[in-house]
Amino acid sequence: AEDNILRKNVTEDKLLGGLLAAGFDESSCLSRYQSVLYRKESPHKPSPYLLERLRKHEALQKKCGPNTEPYKKAIDRLKPLGKGYSNETTECSYLTVMPFSGLGNRIISLTSAFLYALLTNRVLLIERRSGIGDLFCEPFPDTSWLLPHDFPPGNQFRSLSKTSPQCFGNLLKNKVMDSGINGSSNESPSPYVFLNLANGYSDFDQLFFCEDDQRLLRKIPWLLVSSNQYFVPALFFIPTFEEELTRLFPERDTVFHHLGRYLFHPTNPVWGLITRSYESYLAKADERVGLQIRVFNGRTSPLECLNRILKCALEEKLLPNISLHGPVVSPSTGAKSKVVLITSLDSTYFEKIRRMYWEHPTATGEIISVYQPSHEGVEQTGKTMHEMKAWAEIYLLSLSDTLVTSTWSTFGYVAQGLAGLKPLITLIPSNPDCRLAMSMEPCFHFPPFYGCKANTSVDAGAVLPYVRHCEDMKNGLKLV
Ligand code: GDP
Repeated sequence: AEDNILRKNVTEDKLLGGLLAAGFDESSCLSRYQSVLYRKESPHKPSPYLLERLRKHEALQKKCGPNTEPYKKAIDRLKPLGKGYSNETTECSYLTVMPFSGLGNRIISLTSAFLYALLTNRVLLIERRSGIGDLFCEPFPDTSWLLPHDFPPGNQFRSLSKTSPQCFGNLLKNKVMDSGINGSSNESPSPYVFLNLANGYSDFDQLFFCEDDQRLLRKIPWLLVSSNQYFVPALFFIPTFEEELTRLFPERDTVFHHLGRYLFHPTNPVWGLITRSYESYLAKADERVGLQIRVFNGRTSPLECLNRILKCALEEKLLPNISLHGPVVSPSTGAKSKVVLITSLDSTYFEKIRRMYWEHPTATGEIISVYQPSHEGVEQTGKTMHEMKAWAEIYLLSLSDTLVTSTWSTFGYVAQGLAGLKPLITLIPSNPDCRLAMSMEPCFHFPPFYGCKANTSVDAGAVLPYVRHCEDMKNGLKLV
């Protein structure tokens, strides 16, 4: 019996409390079931309702995914018939997503798209151009979340942008779609609508976050989303979703934590990068401190960034001060060891911190080692090895015991969310301090600015008690 209990516990852990589906081929994606060996158990349990909805969604992805009959039928709906389109209803509806910008941005926008797909019972399919196929394993059993190569009509969709007539904001602006008159004034409505949910989107595009406008989208078989934002917080503004979201996430600030752990499993080559780094440099230390140093060109100087992050880590006692005058004592055998994991495009921070702890003893006697896996110089989105290293470093940061992250950085948001940690976050540039983040959720940098009723601007940070302005971005929104 004891043996059984033991085995049961191991399997339960492996599936992260039921978050992950059983039955995948383990060797094709080692990280999926091995993550439990590297991560501490999360104190946040997914709700039984979330687990139920995930299993239901997996069934939907399988039933309606690429190469199934419902998929082929839905594809047929995209083909123009004479002057318009067929009005036939489809068995399944779809959400294709084109996540873009750096990897952190793509991960958080993909997570938002997935949650929207879950809420609206749509099959989620990802544009291969987004380059994520090499980075993540398939999250849904017996199907693929990648949009097939032959997704028609390729060129027509590829050129969709915020200026296209099929863009939701333009459909509303041009009154082709109107929430006032019972759906659409168009006789054979387009079977697809393009949703622009990226920074710089129009006031009309922002109506996506309104109940009435959501109603218009329900009947459209294909929604094509383009985004680089974590738009989850604003989904809570839509009353029909809010109720469901509260059931799914009784702890509202765990949305990314659970969905991120559910969706993003490093492919085997990336898992190699992660585990080799971890075993060689991180595993043996008593404690792992992650410092994520992201400098946005022209905003803050590199030296200022280092000083802010180091000051934060020292003042908040994540790292020990150095002793400038004290005797050089050889550490007693009981001394605690800490490893500082630095991620940055630049190696100067690493050099400085390592030298600091080499040239001086720590005031506490702690033994400090410093490790930075790569210093890629500049962002090279689209280059496979560069992206794999970025993903590996985000993941390694997420294995830290404590974290300091940089202002505005989605790279840091993903690490903190996967870790389930509130990081110490550096604040808006005019404020030199750092602060423990209100929650581990990513910030939605560019939320809707106008209310759902005509000509009303609202303070979106004052609408719901658990959607607040971010520490690092005044107008941004995050779940707390
Ligand atoms: P953000 O710009 O900080 O919000 O983060 P993103 O991940 O969206 O975009 C930054 C991109 O620059 C990353 O995806 C990487 O390609 C690269 N990058 C930035 N910081 C690092 C780092 O510390 N390590 C590595 N390997 N790449 C980084």
